[in-house]
Amino acid sequence: MRVHILPTSVQGTPGHGLTGFVVDGVLALDAGQLGQCGTCAEQSQIRDVLLTHSHIDHVAGLPTFLDNVYGIASTPPTLHALKPTLEALQTHLFSGQLWPDFIGLSRVMAPFVAIREIEPNRPFPCGRYTAIAIPLQHTVPTVAYLLDDGRDAFALMTDTGPVPELFEKIGRWPRLRGLFLECSFPRRLHELANASQHLTSDQFADAVALLPPGLTVFATHIKPRDYEETVAELRALGLKNVQIGEPGRVVEFR
Ligand SMILES: [Zn+2]
Ligand SMILES: [Zn+2]
Repeated sequence: MRVHILPTSVQGTPGHGLTGFVVDGVLALDAGQLGQCGTCAEQSQIRDVLLTHSHIDHVAGLPTFLDNVYGIASTPPTLHALKPTLEALQTHLFSGQLWPDFIGLSRVMAPFVAIREIEPNRPFPCGRYTAIAIPLQHTVPTVAYLLDDGRDAFALMTDTGPVPELFEKIGRWPRLRGLFLECSFPRRLHELANASQHLTSDQFADAVALLPPGLTVFATHIKPRDYEETVAELRALGLKNVQIGEPGRVVEFR
């Protein structure tokens, strides 16, 4: 599987102001900047969008994405998310105030989007992949995703506070080749991390210690404001299997 960590646009820093990944050009994990990356034709190849949660840095690019691809592909893309996430999108984002109600309009005219409510811990098909959503610990209902194509698998864990039992559980997944794990803050901001249910560099290292030693872990969701400080702390930890998941980078799992 080929995973493109979509670029973000804060100049002068490679931090993760927005979160979004595209797998093999056809599946998106989160949509923070999805509508702003690539051409409309490229975006129309994306058949499934899996959302971790409703926070704006993970969904901000969804309205423009759905607008960009409307009518280009023969069928609309499918949006997969927890019920509370779908309800938040309907109530706030596709309210008719911030953006037209693409969800409601899809019931009465050529659809913009197909909606699929997901259930935690129950595998579901997504094109040629099988996905599993695993609940995390965050300020709103949030899930990690395991994505498995039958040969290789990887996981995305963002946004979350410390969940030791889940780090161990996901680390045992067969065919797991890599993990994108959030590291939002430097250790100096541990109070903010606790209040917002995110990981500091120290908590990131604690999580890595619970994962298989050979598993490549990509640090993601690093706040642009503190990027240099957080990355310096991660590098100083000397964790050989940890890499920085820089926005714009393409990662292959095989
Ligand atoms: Zn969040
Ligand atoms: Zn976030």
